Amino acid sequence: MKLLQNYPLQDITTFHAQVFAKYYTVFSSVDFLRKTLTSPELKGMPFIILGGGSNVLFTGDFNGVIIRNAMEGMEVKSQDENNIYIKANGGEKWHDFVLYCVNRNYGGIENLSLIPGTVGAGPIQNIGAYGVELKDVLFEVETMNVHTLEIRNFSNAECKFGYRESIFKKEEKGNYIILSVTFKLNKNPKPNVSYGSLSKELEAMGISNPSIKDVSNAVIKIRSSKLPDPDKLGNAGSFFKNPTIPNADFEKLKSEHPNIVSFPATEGYTKLAAGWLIEQCGWKGKRIGDAGVHKDQALVLVNYANATGKEIYELSTKIIESVKEKFGVELEREVNIF
Ligand SMILES: Cc1cc2nc3c(=O)[nH]c(=O)nc-3n(C[C@H](O)[C@H](O)[C@H](O)COP(=O)(O)OP(=O)(O)OC[C@H]3O[C@@H](n4cnc5c(N)ncnc54)[C@H](O)[C@@H]3O)c2cc1C
Repeated sequence: MKLLQNYPLQDITTFHAQVFAKYYTVFSSVDFLRKTLTSPELKGMPFIILGGGSNVLFTGDFNGVIIRNAMEGMEVKSQDENNIYIKANGGEKWHDFVLYCVNRNYGGIENLSLIPGTVGAGPIQNIGAYGVELKDVLFEVETMNVHTLEIRNFSNAECKFGYRESIFKKEEKGNYIILSVTFKLNKNPKPNVSYGSLSKELEAMGISNPSIKDVSNAVIKIRSSKLPDPDKLGNAGSFFKNPTIPNADFEKLKSEHPNIVSFPATEGYTKLAAGWLIEQCGWKGKRIGDAGVHKDQALVLVNYANATGKEIYELSTKIIESVKEKFGVELEREVNIF
């Protein structure tokens, strides 16, 4: 095991904040991971599994070991007339996997094109975009228990997926490392273009009967024009979740703020657009030092150059406080804070 000391995380996290980990190592096989977790040097030391670093914010140096998942590769497990089951290893880059499937006309994940990060992190927050969530296509998750080192498979239902949630982010947080994910994809795909901006983009592209490749291209086009590229401007995508509130509270808010932006949620609840709430509090485009709120996307916090993780975190706290004060709604961070 190659253990690097005092390792900078700036280039392996998309916020690009200057922080260091006491130790850093990479694993590319299950055996290697097992050896790492049982090595005498690391015994009892806190550790974090990192994929692409696109959904994390370190508020200070990490006095433990960062274990980077570099277990790539995928294989077809089985198929029938309609479906194909593909297992992808956790360190595989998510977008590469999407393109692999789209190029073979295996449908189901084309709407999730261009989301940064790894396959193994996908189930953690049930990644979602443009009307599709990972849970819609996930068959099972293969994990290693960090305490017993036993391998356990979680079925889709056992993952307890919700909006940007799963068992791995809640009750089993930190207890399992995701080794691979098996997807159930459609060999006779029917593109899902129900999401407003996606159907508009396809229309603008002059496509009325889109293939999944067309959907993927449209999603890539929208994302590239709307979201800041983390290589140019540090960010982790949406910093906050869209809050869900009881319908009665929503009706009251709507009477006070008739333009409030909302979406349907589970029965009895309404989902609010966090970006709209933040914008109404005057945060869009605001900057405190090098930490800021993106000029076009109020949901995205950015690092203009040298913001520390602590400064970005403090900015997020100020935003949460002002949204609470103006709307009585508590925003929750989507990004994983360490
Ligand atoms: C520009 C931009 C756009 C984005 N758009 C979207 C979007 O549309 N939808 C969306 O859902 N997300 C989006 N994200 C967030 C992010 O890309 C996803 O959450 C992605 O799945 C994170 O993958 P990662 O490999 O970078 O995870 P990391 O940031 O490395 O890790 C995230 C969390 O998962 C844990 N983790 C990582 N790998 C494993 C593993 N193998 N086993 C156990 N735990 C693990 C980490 O410890 C950490 O807590 C966006 C981010 C950016 C920067």
